[in-house]
Amino acid sequence: MKPTNIKQLQAQSRRMQARRVDRHTLAVQSTSNPMANHIVTVEFHEDGTVHARCTCPWAINRGVACTHVMAALEYLAAMKNRTLSFWTSEEEARRQKHRVFYLTHNDHDDEQDEGVWITSRVG
Ligand SMILES: [Zn+2]
Repeated sequence: MKPTNIKQLQAQSRRMQARRVDRHTLAVQSTSNPMANHIVTVEFHEDGTVHARCTCPWAINRGVACTHVMAALEYLAAMKNRTLSFWTSEEEARRQKHRVFYLTHNDHDDEQDEGVWITSRVG
């Protein structure tokens, strides 16, 4: 499952607070309850694949690219002075002529797995 309104979600994620818990784990403010956090785990692979998990209902129901995962990835990118954009089609992502990553679940055996593409640029 991928989001249909990815640009809207991305705008929302840019206003969310993230902080790093450890190397692969981040805590991201919940949008439904500002007093709560969601826990995001991310793993980067050499082939440009990013595996992410989150504790929110969307992610638990096999959704990719929730606002928490986006906020976590944007937080990590900002530390390297990079800005991310999220795309639901690979073609759109490739057209940006930036480095492209593929964001998906942690589950390798899921044939119905659907991901989104991320482009990364400096600044
Ligand atoms: Zn989430």
